[in-house]
Amino acid sequence: MKRRELLQGMAAAAAASALGPRLAGAPGRAAAGLDIRVRRLLLRHQWTTTMSSSAHRDTLHVRYTRDGVTGLGEGAGIVRYRQDALGGQKALEGVRDFLLAADPWHHAKVVAELDRRLPGQRAAVSAVDLALLDWAGKRQGVPLYRLLGLDPSEAAVTTMSIGIDTPEVTRLKVQEAADFPFLKIKVGLATDEATLDAVRSVTKKPLRVDANEGWTNKEEAVRKINWLESQGVELVEQPLPAHMVEEARWVRSRVHIPLFADEACHSAKEIPALREAFDGIVVKLDKSGGVHEALRMIEVARALGMKVMIGCMVSSSCTITAAAHLSPLADYADLDGHLLISNDPYAGVRVEKGRLILPDSPGLGVRLTAD
Ligand code: MG
Repeated sequence: MKRRELLQGMAAAAAASALGPRLAGAPGRAAAGLDIRVRRLLLRHQWTTTMSSSAHRDTLHVRYTRDGVTGLGEGAGIVRYRQDALGGQKALEGVRDFLLAADPWHHAKVVAELDRRLPGQRAAVSAVDLALLDWAGKRQGVPLYRLLGLDPSEAAVTTMSIGIDTPEVTRLKVQEAADFPFLKIKVGLATDEATLDAVRSVTKKPLRVDANEGWTNKEEAVRKINWLESQGVELVEQPLPAHMVEEARWVRSRVHIPLFADEACHSAKEIPALREAFDGIVVKLDKSGGVHEALRMIEVARALGMKVMIGCMVSSSCTITAAAHLSPLADYADLDGHLLISNDPYAGVRVEKGRLILPDSPGLGVRLTAD
């Protein structure tokens, strides 16, 4: 090899190395890039439900770049399903080559294949789903709600969630949520009565209650729900453990407010079996594996005459904004995950007196404000 050819070869290798191992692409196509990282979100208050208690949450963040456009996505692993951000990151690293070679315009097919390849990692799948839809929206110059044909003025009013705490802190949290017309109260531990008493000592607002599978038998669930009815509670989420569908049907016939399936319902195919036991379902992007399956869940629930709540895990504005784009399709929204944290790395959906104000910039409409 002549010296000049050798130098040219070295220069080409150096240029490729500068691009780094994260960039790849088929010949003739603009290279794709994929950045997968974990961010720690700090909670304003210790967050306690029947599932867990913590001062922070780690979520998975995906940046997908092709043709000079970057799509952003996030997934919040769900403790109940033994998911965490590091496990999700590892799972996505295992499909990096597939994602870099895939055609992002085929996002529905790509996400379906990812779901097949990564069983038990729906939050990580959702992070990719959001990044691809953000990318597609940006490439087309339209916000996600417009891609879906939805009216942003019909975006829902969200509840503010009050996690399980001492009566003193519960009162403080309710006062901090003064702007919100509805509150969602987490119950399911031995402190339910004290929690409701603390809430009712400072507000008369309509309440929604989430038991997170906390009541262990059907008689207890009926007793608690009948009592909650007298406290101005308008619906109850997941009163019994997810597998107790027959017992939930028994409970439903003895109470007077709607029951919603959350932990019992992850994807569209499960919904028909829940129809007799629940009045509605809770759709979450981290549970469904992203927008594509969330839309199927909403369509199946509607076809069966069921109501829809769109909810969330503790997440940044990235996930919450994506979910807010779907909220015109929901009867209820519980999209406050970004309001529970103190170091949101994105700006996106705004919340004014509980109403979700969708951004009108292309894609999800979220902007990274911290690196
Ligand atoms: Mg719930």
